[in-house]
Amino acid sequence: MGILLQNGTIVNAEGQQRADVLIEGEIVSQIAAAIDPAGHEVVDCTGKLLLPGGIDVHTHLDLAFGGTYSNDDFNTGHRAAGFGGTTTHIDFVIQPKGGSLADGLKIWREKAKPAQIDYAFHMAVTDLRDDVMAEIPSLVQEGITSLKLFMAYKNVFQVDDMTLFKAMRVAAEHGMIVMVHAENGDVEATLTPALLAAGQTDPVYHASSRPPEIEGEATNRAVVMSGLTGCSLYVVHMTCEFAVEALRRGRALRYPVMGESCVQYFHLTVADHLAQPDFHGAKFVCSPPIRSTHDQAVLWEAVRDGTLQVVSTDHCDFWFEGGVGPVQEWAAAHNGGNWHAFEAQNPTYRRPGKELGKGNFARIPNGLPAIEDRLMVMWHTGVNSGKLSPERFVALNCTNPAKIFGMYPKKGGITVGGDADILVWDAARKHTISASTHHMHVDYNLFEGMEVQGVPVQVYLRGTKIVDGDRWLGRNGSGQYVPRQPHAPVL
Ligand SMILES: [Zn+2]
Repeated sequence: MGILLQNGTIVNAEGQQRADVLIEGEIVSQIAAAIDPAGHEVVDCTGKLLLPGGIDVHTHLDLAFGGTYSNDDFNTGHRAAGFGGTTTHIDFVIQPKGGSLADGLKIWREKAKPAQIDYAFHMAVTDLRDDVMAEIPSLVQEGITSLKLFMAYKNVFQVDDMTLFKAMRVAAEHGMIVMVHAENGDVEATLTPALLAAGQTDPVYHASSRPPEIEGEATNRAVVMSGLTGCSLYVVHMTCEFAVEALRRGRALRYPVMGESCVQYFHLTVADHLAQPDFHGAKFVCSPPIRSTHDQAVLWEAVRDGTLQVVSTDHCDFWFEGGVGPVQEWAAAHNGGNWHAFEAQNPTYRRPGKELGKGNFARIPNGLPAIEDRLMVMWHTGVNSGKLSPERFVALNCTNPAKIFGMYPKKGGITVGGDADILVWDAARKHTISASTHHMHVDYNLFEGMEVQGVPVQVYLRGTKIVDGDRWLGRNGSGQYVPRQPHAPVL
């Protein structure tokens, strides 16, 4: 007995098709105009669209950052993702200072134990010593085929140009892709103290410390290195015209370069959000910063014309009003490694959050909540407005992420033999986004009050229904690790 999704319209990146979809076990076993329902559980999908499960290739669950940890972990973050129609994500393992890549992987495997949706890992390399360089090929056997390097966060994560160039040569040799956070960290590290010394400490000055020019410059540097090494490059969270132009130039030269932007960069601006008074701007602090309406128009054009291939979230959320309750005890528990247990025993306690940066924008933990809202918001402002076709929406949010990161056709499309990760999508249903109803573990929402039209009403993960309207049906441990293939295509 299978599950028969009857009478829906499949939307894949390649086109739409009115068809029945039969799920048997964890996979799609048949797609046809009319499948005999005898012996199957029938789900009436008349008037609904069937979309591939969303794939968010850029998340930071349970991440140590800026003296605290991001709120959502592989439990709450998965649930929120699932409610929003995301069935697979790729999180960044961070190489611990002084440690090996394997040390980092061990930590993330532990974090991922409660997984409720499927997940994979990128490896963020923070200290590329010779022994670490030698360790890189072993990642391919673990199903990790992407390396992330930071051109920003001076004295924390930043690597110099020689290190980046060497890493690209090694990655290219082993069929891996290099991802970069492209901002000139040396310039930022010079601007920030000067701004603070001049008394410019409010959240809005975070944007002044990271102007779009330094994103464009670093993007160009990475693009040139990709051209020289032949290493596939994927520039994460691109926000502005300077960066998009650098990528476009590289693509015109047939360099193997690609890029993503994140849902927030299409919708939030310095003027309307980061500049909000009374520290509210801190809610929108992320790096690179949100930009201008002009840059937003450039991003929309870039996802339409194929310069950018993916929309992700960079989900990494922190309390707006955190540090509530026994902070000292939390810190002690945290240092002892048992802070999860501490928080479980003190449910009203809130770990430190954005308030850490009151009076100093450089101390505001960088990151935003978005894992739940990406598909609904991009559908509403992209597809409903006519900027994106439904097929392009699927390409950006589901199919291209799977292809670029070596998970296609297992993930990323509704295809015979592929995983039955399917959203029953009601394009007519309206929903108002709000922190009071969202499932992310955070006290504000970037899109508070936005009414969207188009929501996932049922979500299937490998043939198991994990969301049915307002009900969560997933279980801890039901999410699986997805090992990824090397030599993925350049799109
Ligand atoms: Zn990130």
